[in-house]
Amino acid sequence: MGEAEGFPFDINPMYEGERVRKSGMYVEFGGLTKPGFELVLFEPDPAKVHDNEVTLIGPDLGELEEGGTYAFGMIYKVYGEKIEKDLEAVIERRNHEYQSYIQGYMHLNQRAEIWIRISKDAIKKGLKSLKQIAKATIMLFKSELPFIEAMEAIYITDEEEVEKQLEEAMKIYEARDLKTRGLHDEDVEEFYQCTLCQSFAPTNVCVVTPDRVALCGAMSWFDSRAAARVDPEGPNAPIPKGECIDPIGGEYTGVNAAAVKLSGGEYDSIKLHSFLEKPHTSCGCFEVAGFFIPEVDGIGWIHRGSRVSETPIGLPFSTIAGSVGGGKQVKGFLGIGIQYFYSSKFIQYDGGWRRVVWMASDLKERVKDAIPEEMKDRIATEKEATDIESLRDFLLRVDHPVVKGVIREVDGVKITDGWGTKKEEEAPAATVKAPPAAPTGELPEDLIQAIAAMQGDPPIKIVLKDAKISIGKVILSKKEH
Ligand code: SF4
Repeated sequence: MGEAEGFPFDINPMYEGERVRKSGMYVEFGGLTKPGFELVLFEPDPAKVHDNEVTLIGPDLGELEEGGTYAFGMIYKVYGEKIEKDLEAVIERRNHEYQSYIQGYMHLNQRAEIWIRISKDAIKKGLKSLKQIAKATIMLFKSELPFIEAMEAIYITDEEEVEKQLEEAMKIYEARDLKTRGLHDEDVEEFYQCTLCQSFAPTNVCVVTPDRVALCGAMSWFDSRAAARVDPEGPNAPIPKGECIDPIGGEYTGVNAAAVKLSGGEYDSIKLHSFLEKPHTSCGCFEVAGFFIPEVDGIGWIHRGSRVSETPIGLPFSTIAGSVGGGKQVKGFLGIGIQYFYSSKFIQYDGGWRRVVWMASDLKERVKDAIPEEMKDRIATEKEATDIESLRDFLLRVDHPVVKGVIREVDGVKITDGWGTKKEEEAPAATVKAPPAAPTGELPEDLIQAIAAMQGDPPIKIVLKDAKISIGKVILSKKEH
């Protein structure tokens, strides 16, 4: 690809992952403080798509104050004989990839969560207009996806207009999401992979199924199928399901084979509907991060863009996201798309909603229709629980299933022992029971054992309270006497 002719910036996949820091930023769009969205619309009538045309509604870069944050909407109209409506979401997801090729331009997230930054260096090099960005983006789309025969862009920086168009966009996102609700994993023969995020998370294995929307939330099973139809060997190639090994966990021989292939042998099995055992990998684009809370044997959730700054484990979304991401299978953490909350198989292997103990209040409100009636008042938010102690008190008060032990709804099996009936000193609050990578201030069991073995009996017990510790490497060496 290389140097882009006619543009005052380089265009190259090597800029993917480039971050524009606040200190080097000329302006930013969307993010946490201003509305923003991106939307692709298929237009069946070619006469209605003005190929390569760009319209800007609102002020351009030169009229924006340096250092400011602004509203932003990007609408692309596309036409192509091979394009069907289901491809809209797939094309839309590529906006992130192609815009990330532009030097000095940072694009994060998707749909109504977009966060854009333009660097001061890009402005110094001659970037004057958002229309230049739109032109470059159209060029990239058309060269990378030849089935797009005509494409037009409408960029909006006028905040009122962004708000107005965003309302329409939300209806379109919702209609796309609703489409898969009636379809289940057992109704189809194929799932679909997505390898788009392997550029920064090489072992990531994204599997999109009817019951499990992509963790970035941008692609459903229908969208992925449409992508595979136009490009069967491409990033959304089909995964034949193969044999179902575990119907509750959602483990299939075909998915396991794909896991080996796509992760380069790093992982050999994935349970699609499990949280703790062989979980789905998480790249970095997940809409929601889940975290296991060993002290109450339950699971908490917080989403990207939440107004809630801390969780009961004392960490904000950004720190939890750092533990979840990177294309790893991290026991105790999971990244998901928001629509997965509506799936009838939502983490069913680990008890589904009955295992959920805490949610950020804005997330709980957003997905309230997905929460079963019996659980609605039993899941704490930051209003009821800000730390482990208050969370335990709340769960005891509402008689949450984790207190006496979770009975899995799908098969009636009791999968946890419960802790509410134990004596205080036996309760798991202060014991070492965290998953290996959990940054909860507790040391992994094998490390405790190693320390104990080197120091002789009795084994030591380490309790860390209110501690935030990050350890890159631990080296144990025997002290010579
Ligand atoms: S998160 Fe998964 S589905 Fe979404 S773009 Fe990345 S690889 Fe594809």
